[in-house]
Amino acid sequence: MIVWICTDMEGLAGVDHWDQCYDPDDGSPVYRYGLDQLTADANAAIAGAFDAGASEVRILDGHGRNGNRGFTAALDPRARKTWIARRDPLRWEGLDEEVHAFALLGQHAMAGTVHGFLDHTQSPKDICRYLINGQEAGEMSQMALYAGAYGVPLAYVSGDEALCAEAARLFPGAGSTPTKRGTGWATCDLYPTDRVRASIRRDMAAALGSVERDAAWRPSSPIEVSVEFAWSGRADALADHRGVRRPHARVVEWTIEDPRDIYEWPHAGWRQA
Ligand SMILES: [Zn+2]
Repeated sequence: MIVWICTDMEGLAGVDHWDQCYDPDDGSPVYRYGLDQLTADANAAIAGAFDAGASEVRILDGHGRNGNRGFTAALDPRARKTWIARRDPLRWEGLDEEVHAFALLGQHAMAGTVHGFLDHTQSPKDICRYLINGQEAGEMSQMALYAGAYGVPLAYVSGDEALCAEAARLFPGAGSTPTKRGTGWATCDLYPTDRVRASIRRDMAAALGSVERDAAWRPSSPIEVSVEFAWSGRADALADHRGVRRPHARVVEWTIEDPRDIYEWPHAGWRQA
């Protein structure tokens, strides 16, 4: 059983401040503290996967600010670090039909979630609302759509209560561990980190034991993507590209045939015949 894990930071146990995730100084103590939380949660999830009988665990540091260098030296060496395989269009290394199931760790709720701690979809202060096939969606849905193209289901997530509620609503077959309760966009009450990490290990193992392959999300193509920005200037920058529709000053929409293209943004030279 091969398990693929993508980590983020906003939903980690022990993380309760923007700077722990985004301080631009690589050496700042507050950011280093955030990276220690990342590695500790990752190790709990890796242990849970091996407890469940995994033969291989592949792990990707998916938090953009980290530039794929977020795990500290304390990362469990049994896990194999993976990377972005290609950027245009974006492809994830090691997430393919060989994988039994995938997990999202330290994830945050979708843009527009009340009391989602640092809730966003891709771009924290630009994107107000993101829809896939007319339904509000976040980064969890994007990854589930991509993985579903290979028949790989979402088995497990960890994050704040809002993220866990999002998972229960959209992917009811997935297991989850709440790490904190959001009280505002950038404020939260943390749950005790040692207890949360013990739960991550246990819940990850249980989720892998019960996940069904046919839970993979495979909507029929084509797939409609709609993005509402905070400011119409951001929509201006995309609206002139081939295949982009603009039903409102701040909204752009387009259609994809391959679900793996969910991360692709319209750009110059996009879809030239
Ligand atoms: Zn992130």
